[in-house]
Amino acid sequence: MTDANSLSGLPYYQLYINGEWNDASNEAAFVTIEPATGEPLARLAEASASDVDRAVKAARQAFDHGPWPHTPANERVKILHAIADALEQQTDVLAELEARDSGATLRKTTFIDIPLGIEHLRTIAELARRHPYEPLPWVDMPSVSWNFVWREPIGVCAQITPWNFPFLALMWKIGPALATGNCVVLKPSPLAPLSTMAVTKIIDELQLLPKGVLNIVNGDAETGEALVAHPGVDKVAFTGSCEVGRKVMASAAQTLKRVSLELGGKSPSIVLPNADFDLAVDGVLFGAFLHAGQYCESGTRCFVPRQQHDAFVERLVGRISGVTLGDPLDLTTDIGPLISEKQRERVESYIRLGLEEGATLACGGRRPANPELRGPYIEPTIFCNVANKSRLAQEEIFGPVLAVIPYDDVTQAIEMANDSVYGLGGAVWSRDLQEAIEVAKRIRTGTVWINDHHLINAVAPFGGYKQSGIGRELGLAGLNEYTQEKHIHVDLMQKRDGRIWWDTLLP
Ligand code: NAD
Repeated sequence: MTDANSLSGLPYYQLYINGEWNDASNEAAFVTIEPATGEPLARLAEASASDVDRAVKAARQAFDHGPWPHTPANERVKILHAIADALEQQTDVLAELEARDSGATLRKTTFIDIPLGIEHLRTIAELARRHPYEPLPWVDMPSVSWNFVWREPIGVCAQITPWNFPFLALMWKIGPALATGNCVVLKPSPLAPLSTMAVTKIIDELQLLPKGVLNIVNGDAETGEALVAHPGVDKVAFTGSCEVGRKVMASAAQTLKRVSLELGGKSPSIVLPNADFDLAVDGVLFGAFLHAGQYCESGTRCFVPRQQHDAFVERLVGRISGVTLGDPLDLTTDIGPLISEKQRERVESYIRLGLEEGATLACGGRRPANPELRGPYIEPTIFCNVANKSRLAQEEIFGPVLAVIPYDDVTQAIEMANDSVYGLGGAVWSRDLQEAIEVAKRIRTGTVWINDHHLINAVAPFGGYKQSGIGRELGLAGLNEYTQEKHIHVDLMQKRDGRIWWDTLLP
């Protein structure tokens, strides 16, 4: 992070702890950069371990002694809807901030990220309304009793989000945690924290959450490490890379915190021989290149029947050559920059590797020639005739690079799709829905789209098989990650006589 203390004149965001805005205790700060221009966008206070300690203690106090965990679900839901209403009023502001801070196109943030995130918050809140109570089957042996499960919040949740879709990630984290009565300390990615800060400001102005229920600390690895390791935290919810996910899990193990991890991917798109090619070509490109491929569940490995491989690649190249790289704030731009120069260098190293490994470069692979594109842009890149065992096909690149892999029969396509340490998403392209569902069932990933990609649904569980993660976000499964189950047994006999099991002790 750049030293920010000398940069005045930029918007400045403090830490949000116990319902108050504070500087970092050591007055440290950093800047966030606009990827498209390379210019600083804002300064943010950088939380030290002692600031993290204050935030966790505030959340602890709010959970252990405040009203939030015991507030009836329907009142919490009303507050979340009020937050959603207030966010809706600011859709345009949030969409522009998200585009400038993360490099996503304004078209995407305006029409997808912000409205969808708000809708997800509402859906999660509605799911939570009926969630605490679960009836159990009737039991009258050895006694007549009423049994039910009461789902209670876990406590203080440490939540860590990535830079690639920060607003949506924020809704998916705070939505279920708050709806179920937990208290939160959240740390966004230092590469794109501004929509989180704007949302926090909106929530603060509403004054509907009790103090300490939501706390926001900024910073990078050190701040995150202090948060995950803090003994006052009961649960860690982390979204990011597998590499950091492993560290998070190891650290959380010291005090046996609950952990949910949403990690990386290398998701397959299987084009079956009978697919509608017009649909599949555009769908595979949407799966691979939306947001310059910077999605965890991007369809970065495309399996195509060998006999149709060349024709399919030709059509992919033809369609992608029509997309425009440009300023994310221009509504005609299709693809913006990558998040950082470091990320572009990583992508370029994989393009070199693909060539060394013998894959054929069908298009892209370069920085765009347009000198006006100052940020870390890279052309959409398609490799064909890729070997599934190659590193190009096995490792997460997190950029606009698609590997097309030929297959001989559907069984082989499924086996290759599953030959990966990841298991986050996948797509099947076919006109035969019955066959597509059978293939989907055999793909070992947490989500499979049929004739679609990227559509994450707030009522459905989202998460990874294998090294793509642990636990689920969204849906009832996502709410369960933020609750613990208590069995409550209520005796319905209401008298001493006939309690034969008491008689085994008391004569
Ligand atoms: P990252 O792992 O570098 O960082 C993620 C977050 O962890 C950031 O907030 C970062 O500051 C923080 N962090 C870094 N080191 C830490 C540490 N030692 N302890 C605690 N926190 C630490 O990931 P990124 O580059 O921000 O995001 C890209 C990665 O995230 C990709 O691998 C992508 O696949 C994955 N991702 C997964 C999902 C999902 O839902 N499965 C969604 C988005 C992104």
